Amino acid sequence: MEQFRELEEDLSALFLTLDKKSLRNLGSFFKKQTRFFDYNRRKLQDEKGNNDVRKTRQRRRGNGRGGLMKAGLLVLMILVFVLGGMKLAGAGPFFDGYREMEGEAVDAFRPDMTVDLLTPNSYSRPETGTSRIRNIVLHYTANPGATAKQNRDYFEGLKDTHLTKASSHFIVGLDGEIVQCIPTWEVAYASNNRNGDTVSIECCHPDESGSFNQKTYDSMVRLSAWLCLKFNLTENDLIRHYDVTGKICPKYFVDYPEKWTQFQADVGKMLEKMR
Ligand SMILES: [Zn+2]
Repeated sequence: MEQFRELEEDLSALFLTLDKKSLRNLGSFFKKQTRFFDYNRRKLQDEKGNNDVRKTRQRRRGNGRGGLMKAGLLVLMILVFVLGGMKLAGAGPFFDGYREMEGEAVDAFRPDMTVDLLTPNSYSRPETGTSRIRNIVLHYTANPGATAKQNRDYFEGLKDTHLTKASSHFIVGLDGEIVQCIPTWEVAYASNNRNGDTVSIECCHPDESGSFNQKTYDSMVRLSAWLCLKFNLTENDLIRHYDVTGKICPKYFVDYPEKWTQFQADVGKMLEKMR
């Protein structure tokens, strides 16, 4: 439109310089030109009109797309809500969150134990969260004659001695006593690459053979069965430290695999009673 206006201005400037005769000659030309302008203007307007129609159509189609987007967003929000809830609950096949079973049996069959938690420190209680508990790992202390309390204090002392990184959730003593050192939702430094999804039990033993006395053995069975109940596991989910790294631990159950099988069976029987 700008160039038409300029042309019109040029023409009117020319018009002013012309005499009457020339003006009359120009008159008809100008009319034609005006008609031509009108035609172009109308044509332009038509095109613009069509554009407007097209724009409206696009806008309508755009609205359709907007509706789809809104529906998609809603589905996404519902998904986030549901999956978020599952993650919080540590439920479903996708999430590995820590969770415990609750119920009368879990409370009723909790073995007597002393809860004597270690002081949080990077050598024995890093306060790292565990994910879902997949296995219970049995160990022996490799410290003949030492009591559960002595082993617990050794772990506690690592915060000062910095000798190594080591600990265990539970220690079963020579009198069958059970000491808990670390909450089961926190990592213990016991089972190498499996620290994150296992609960560990250290077991005291009277001598170098690594065999367990009856009191220790009975408490090991009771505690293992209760942990299976608590984490919805079975006796087949009990493993030896040996099964993780090949370390000879617990020595007695590595030297005598049939004793290990027997131990699992004993836990299975106890678990049946608890359930
Ligand atoms: Zn071990």
